[in-house]
Amino acid sequence: MSVIRRLPEEVVHRIAAGEVVTSAAAALKELLENSIDARATKINVGVRQGGLKVLQIVDNGKGMAPEDMRMACERFATSKLQTFEDLQSITSFGFRGEALASISQVARVKIVSMVPDAVCAYSASYADGKIAGANGGQAAPKPCAGVPGTTVTVEDLFYNMPTRRSANRNASEEYRAIADIVTRYSIRYSSIAFTCKRLGDNSGSDIKSTMNATVLENIQLAFGKNLAQELLDFKFEIDGLGVSGSGLVSNANYNLTRRTFILFINGRLVDYAPLKKALDSTHSEFSPKGSHGFFYLDINMRTEDLDVNVHPTKREVRFLHGAELIESVTSAVSDRLKTSRTSRVYYSQS
Ligand code: ADP
Ligand code: MG
Repeated sequence: MSVIRRLPEEVVHRIAAGEVVTSAAAALKELLENSIDARATKINVGVRQGGLKVLQIVDNGKGMAPEDMRMACERFATSKLQTFEDLQSITSFGFRGEALASISQVARVKIVSMVPDAVCAYSASYADGKIAGANGGQAAPKPCAGVPGTTVTVEDLFYNMPTRRSANRNASEEYRAIADIVTRYSIRYSSIAFTCKRLGDNSGSDIKSTMNATVLENIQLAFGKNLAQELLDFKFEIDGLGVSGSGLVSNANYNLTRRTFILFINGRLVDYAPLKKALDSTHSEFSPKGSHGFFYLDINMRTEDLDVNVHPTKREVRFLHGAELIESVTSAVSDRLKTSRTSRVYYSQS
């Protein structure tokens, strides 16, 4: 008698979804990236119970037509990638067509969307990768009132994954993780107006950036004027490798209790531990023992040199020329810290 059996499709999907949607903050990151991909200039995030009860993203991007809304939560359905080769030159955040599908596997999803020239918006609910309400026939998004753009509401995250639900941090910690991601995007995408707030209390927005602000203004907004005043700007470029970038580092005499490392490569928020480590050690050469630095880095390289398809969450990337990159960035930072006493970056009073 055989013992190996093929898993039912729903089980496979739910397992895979758990890899993409590891937390409410991970879901938020996907939704935020969809809004930026849709060229939104305003993105409002609302959160209840750390995103486990409600996570809502309202954008004013290009919206979805009702035909597309039908497909939005289907696994591997995307408007961004067509051939495998496209991956080499992909500039959108999304390409796997997995985020909404995964979220709808582990939560109740509702989307209201309107394309700019439509007469009305459409709304649809989704569960398990499918649009809800198909009583035998093909379910269609329902017309409703709305404004151009897209609102995605995620409710009862992990309702069907008890272990994940209880393993998730408490609501305020999870909210902090969400606000941290919104903050980082608000800095890199400083032309977009972001807000982030807890729904249900009247405390207002915890994050409120304006349209067409600068990187420095949004750092000041999030981390305070004291830090913003102490930031030094630097640039670097590796000849012949197509790698260049700019960044901000805190003055060596400015003491932070905790290191902050914000890294974007080709516009993507990523982690790169070797660079973080190298920068820590560069900074410590100049600063008092036990103090930490603030690092903001915006690096660009050829899309074909950056592999974004390492992990479903896309937080991890691989690229060519890692050693040269570390060398180039650390020497730029080191040069800048050396001259830190004489010059400071311009920042605006507000
Ligand atoms: P991917 O981003 O990899 O394409 P997703 O599951 O995140 O996959 O989204 C599926 C599709 O739904 C996208 O390709 C896009 O066409 C559409 N979509 C999702 N979010 C938005 C949004 N905020 N505005 C407009 N279209 C969206
Ligand atoms: Mg996406």
